Amino acid sequence: MRNHRSALLPLLAALVISASLIPCYPAAGEADPPVPEETVIPVEQREYTFMKYGATGDAVRELQTRLTELGYYTGKIDGSYGNGTQTAVRLFQRYNALDVDGMAGNKTQSVLFSDAAVPAPEPAGPVDVLAGDLPLLVNNEHPVDEDFVPDDLVLLKDVFASSTVKIKYSKTQGVRTAAEALLEMLSAAQADGLKKWQISAGYRTWADQNSMLESKISSYRKKNTSWGRTKARNAALKTVATPGCSEHHLGLAFDVNVPGASSFAGTKQCKWLHEHCWEYGFIVRYPAGKEDITGFSAEAWHVRYVGTEHSLYMRDHDLCLEEYLALVSPAAADEETPEAGSGTEEDIQDTVMPDFSGDDLIIEEELLTEEDI
Ligand SMILES: [Zn+2]
Repeated sequence: MRNHRSALLPLLAALVISASLIPCYPAAGEADPPVPEETVIPVEQREYTFMKYGATGDAVRELQTRLTELGYYTGKIDGSYGNGTQTAVRLFQRYNALDVDGMAGNKTQSVLFSDAAVPAPEPAGPVDVLAGDLPLLVNNEHPVDEDFVPDDLVLLKDVFASSTVKIKYSKTQGVRTAAEALLEMLSAAQADGLKKWQISAGYRTWADQNSMLESKISSYRKKNTSWGRTKARNAALKTVATPGCSEHHLGLAFDVNVPGASSFAGTKQCKWLHEHCWEYGFIVRYPAGKEDITGFSAEAWHVRYVGTEHSLYMRDHDLCLEEYLALVSPAAADEETPEAGSGTEEDIQDTVMPDFSGDDLIIEEELLTEEDI
């Protein structure tokens, strides 16, 4: 035992000597340099600069950068709080259960810059084909069966019971999900100060569509007594969809306008709708500039519900429904997609009311008939 301990002594001595040779900074006797204090403030306690439309500067740049990271903003990071930034903030607020006002206040930014921020939903894009939930295409080449009746139809007046939006016809129906999205959208518009809205059309049965066509044929024959039925029908089909070819048959399309206004295009409401409908799952179904593809003249008032996973992608890539379906599922928008000049589009060039075409003549007060709905 003793022999064993004495054998360790030279080893310990060697270790002590080695340790004393290791350089040691700072040298004994000098003061240690001050270590900076940790100054990060917990996110929830930070005060953020309030920003809204028109703001500029580094804080806006930081906001845009974060919105881009989360997938809400695709514009330039230029430090300028314009329409694109405002829309991105709105979207962010919507998907994070915040008040949707498009302004970056303390609460919005506290969530935005936290780990709890919910990112933008992934667009369906070209990858969701297998999910099989693509919007149904209805146009002159893709009619709906005469007997088709959508599931879960509701009266708009019931969905909008607590709203000030005018439902022009009390019998107007829509599919519940779409009707509820419509209510949410128009409530947001009203919160933005645009109070007056009207829904003048929703679901239309095949019989409704046929009545519209027959009514138009009769009106032509009254005005032109020498016309036979075929001639009158051909003329009517220039502005009224063939029964079964109206999107209203799906219960997912609505005509939105301003009570008493003779034209919707050019109103503040129209501008708001075209800017924001996408955030609520709606698309402007017949946009200006896509007439050759949709087969219809631009219809500012007609929106179609497709769901945000599709609508946001279509907005961001400037795609109408035919283009979108061709991209994500070529089989859904095959060779039967209307071609330029086919269907009503060519004929509409000659109509006396170029602003009102397709199946949506009902926006013109003088053309309204109860059988439209
Ligand atoms: Zn319509």
